[in-house]
Amino acid sequence: MHAGLEEGKLNLIVFDNEDTLRSLLEGLGLEVGQGKKILRDGKAEKCSCCDEPLTTKNLGNLMPGSLELFCDRPTCLAGYILRYRGH
Ligand SMILES: [Zn+2]
Repeated sequence: MHAGLEEGKLNLIVFDNEDTLRSLLEGLGLEVGQGKKILRDGKAEKCSCCDEPLTTKNLGNLMPGSLELFCDRPTCLAGYILRYRGH
C-alpha cells in the first residue's frame, strides 16, 4: 500500500493486493464476505456518498479515523473532501 496519485485517478490510498486490503479491513473491524462484499456487523457496507454496496473490487478509499468508505468513483471522494473542508 502506498499513498499517491495514479494517473487519471483520484486516489489517496492504492492497495497493492487483496490480502493487504483484507487484513486492513479486518483490522478496522470489517469483514470480507461472499462475492468480496465488505461487511460491517454482517451487513453490506455502502459508499458513504452514493450508497453503492462496496466490495474489495470497487473500494476506492477509506478515510482513516472516520471509518467512512468510498467507492472508486472520483466524484464520491471529491464530494467528501469538499464537505470535510467546508466544516
Ligand atoms: Zn460512491
